Amino acid sequence: NVHVEIGEYAPALAEFLHALAADEAAGDEASRAATLRTIGVVYSKAGDPEQGLQFYSDSLALTRKLADAPGSARTLNNIGINLKNLGRLDESEAALRESLALFRQLDSPAGLAGAASNLALTLHKRGDLAAAEALQRESIDVAQRAGYELALVNAQRGLSEALLAAGRLDDAHAAARAALATAEAMGSRPEQARCLRALVDVCKARGDAAAALAHFESFHAIERALFTEESDRKLRALQVSYQVAQLARQSAEDPLTGLANRRSLDARLAAEWAAVRSGGSAHGRRLSLALIDVDEFKQVNDRWSHAMGDAVLRAVARRLREFCRESDFVARYGGEEFALLLPATDVDGAQVLCEKLRATLAAHDWNALAPGLRVTVSIGVADDAGAADVEALLAAADAQLYAAKRGGRNQVRAPLQAAGKKPSTDR
Ligand code: GH3
Ligand code: MG
Ligand code: MG
Repeated sequence: NVHVEIGEYAPALAEFLHALAADEAAGDEASRAATLRTIGVVYSKAGDPEQGLQFYSDSLALTRKLADAPGSARTLNNIGINLKNLGRLDESEAALRESLALFRQLDSPAGLAGAASNLALTLHKRGDLAAAEALQRESIDVAQRAGYELALVNAQRGLSEALLAAGRLDDAHAAARAALATAEAMGSRPEQARCLRALVDVCKARGDAAAALAHFESFHAIERALFTEESDRKLRALQVSYQVAQLARQSAEDPLTGLANRRSLDARLAAEWAAVRSGGSAHGRRLSLALIDVDEFKQVNDRWSHAMGDAVLRAVARRLREFCRESDFVARYGGEEFALLLPATDVDGAQVLCEKLRATLAAHDWNALAPGLRVTVSIGVADDAGAADVEALLAAADAQLYAAKRGGRNQVRAPLQAAGKKPSTDR
């Protein structure tokens, strides 16, 4: 309903369709009838009266079956409005007459005032101005006594239009002024705008150009204010969704390097693992993981500064990103450790690739960052073959990383492979 209020019909529909599924799951037919009617209203407001009618008629079938007379009366009223807007005036009149009769039986002033006024509009369109006038007057009478301002202003405006069409210009003018007074008392600017627009037509017909212009200026000022508020509301809604997107990004990203964080890596690893194990990835394709740890990084912090350490981490991250293909996934795994996920690559292919990466980093001109600075990495590689689960894959890569450190750093280690097997990589 909030979505409907701010004119966002697509998300409103999505919510109401959810509600409809819940009604169905709960077997609650009364609630389902109400939800179907509301969906019809949303389609109608969104400018699709045909689709609105579909939902209204489903709702009506249910309310009739449940002998829910108030529900049937309300839905018939809505059906009548849509049929009128579609120019199907015979059917509109029939639906609205039945709605009105039901509301009379139910002794419901609110329903009666609305249905009478709507029937009047249809009869007006059919050219039966006398019947339209009588029904609008009845609606005004009922609405006034019950204190229903919205029904009252609609009927007063409808009366003014019927009288204008009948050429009774002074009566039409009085009715339009009464409608405007009601709208002002309500404090409803959209209603004020509609009444002013009706007054403009009456004043023009009376030949009172000055009054028509004055009313038109008031109408225009209100319309413009409403439009600005509507735009502001939409802008605020956009800002909120931007903030939500920003938060989602922050929760997935490492702020220092802009790489995916550990949390994203876990999610991606689980997804790639599922793909490779379900056969979703092509037969024989392996998933490789490389863990990359900066060598003697503590010394960078100690010899230069923590800020320099940060700059090195950012530079390593940038090189990693440049090195990766679209289908690869690179993340900051921990302090000075990074992870590289390589789909469709076996451990031999990953080893070849990581050796290039290691050499690239070692050959980088680190002196540009700080004279005398040297940065190398150690890399441990493993693939999914022989790993029971994701944790085993991570442990295998970590064991290889440890071996690379023990072996003297600035090197790549992978589990020993069957002799004669050629590395498999698309690169
Ligand atoms: P090794 O070659 O065995 O990996 O030695 P190392 O010094 O790289 O390893 P160690 O684990 O002893 O030290 C890692 C250091 O990384 C310690 C920690 O203060 C530093 N570190 C972790 N995260 C950050 C960070 O975000 N910025 C900076 N500047 N330093 C960090
Ligand atoms: Mg480390
Ligand atoms: Mg280290």
